Amino acid sequence: MCKFFCTFAPNFVNMKICFEQESVKKACEWMSQAQHIVILTHMAPDGDAMGSALALYHSVMERFAVRPLSLLDPDEGPAVRPADGLLDVHVIVPNAFPAFFNWMPGADKILVYETQQKACEPLLAEADLFVCTDFNDPKRIGPVGEKMLQRDCPKILFDHHLNPVPFADVLFSFPEASSASEIVYTFLKNTDRSADRIQNTDLATCIYTGLMTDTGNFSFNSTNAELYDIIADLLRAGVQKDAIYDAVFNQYSTDRVRLTGYALYRKMRIYPEHHLALITLSADELDQYHYQPGDTEGLVNMPLQIAEVYYSVFMREERAKPGTPRSRIRLSFRSQGDRPVNVWAAEVFNGGGHMNASGGELFGSLQQAVRLFEQSFPKYIKK
Ligand code: 5GP
Ligand code: MN
Repeated sequence: MCKFFCTFAPNFVNMKICFEQESVKKACEWMSQAQHIVILTHMAPDGDAMGSALALYHSVMERFAVRPLSLLDPDEGPAVRPADGLLDVHVIVPNAFPAFFNWMPGADKILVYETQQKACEPLLAEADLFVCTDFNDPKRIGPVGEKMLQRDCPKILFDHHLNPVPFADVLFSFPEASSASEIVYTFLKNTDRSADRIQNTDLATCIYTGLMTDTGNFSFNSTNAELYDIIADLLRAGVQKDAIYDAVFNQYSTDRVRLTGYALYRKMRIYPEHHLALITLSADELDQYHYQPGDTEGLVNMPLQIAEVYYSVFMREERAKPGTPRSRIRLSFRSQGDRPVNVWAAEVFNGGGHMNASGGELFGSLQQAVRLFEQSFPKYIKK
């Protein structure tokens, strides 16, 4: 039986996430009919990118994969599987995700474009549906975005960033949501006829990981009661929340913890009159601590633990790739309260993001980035 409702069924009401029925209908039809689904999420995947993408993967696998046509209900509208009843669904990420997400259910099936380009190309070329999550601009998925845009097939986007670039045919954009995972949960819950509660533990685990990481373990963007209704539902589905916390936050390498110590002790600069902190780490410094993707995740938040610091910026140098002249500086911006950093990130560092959490980049040296930062902050930060 087709488990996707093709119309909205309010199994779960979330005041921050109000779906348009027409869009839900279209997305369900496409998901029901597609044979080659590719799920995409952003570069340097974080817990929400991983969680929302893998939750979509599990839901599609659960509802459709290798499901003979005879099991589909012909009265349920256009949800008709291809004659062989087969469906292939793949999650592709632009570059490596941190090893501390390896344990996530389905993570072993994820393809990394940067290192598995040969395997990814045919999938991107054959896809008849792209399901995108946790990014608002194809630029955020690098070369994969260009491949996707070349393809004339439907694209669905689940996202919680401001001002999405209009590339998707169906857009579920809710900047008020805590995470893309919250949006995906609400979508799945309201399109599954058997969803008085979520039953798939793997799917629930992925959603929980996204909620937990994008809210700093429920310390920001997490004051709506619905979020806790969701958590209760996920716990009933068998989610081991303490084990997830442990897997994500308590399995670091010695080098990572020492790098954090070094960054805070030796590299944090405070601008007290501006309530601002800056940490920079050069490629050489990262080498000394055998830097792995994800090792500086969360570092930018730490200066905000200081009472007088309301803004924090972190810059990380990536060495120039062969054939490119300049190194790349990745910037992370964080702030507290009514102090937007996204305009600063967008106008000065070619980035963007949420009001209190943004990112950007600069091609050049760390010194240039710091100079630009010092020149620009008086314009963008509130006294
Ligand atoms: P992070 O500092 O964790 O890398 O990024 C924080 C937030 O800023 C992310 O949720 C992401 O949405 C946004 N962000 C990071 N980098 C960029 C960027 O280059 N462009 C845009 N538009 N947003 C970014
Ligand atoms: Mn997110």
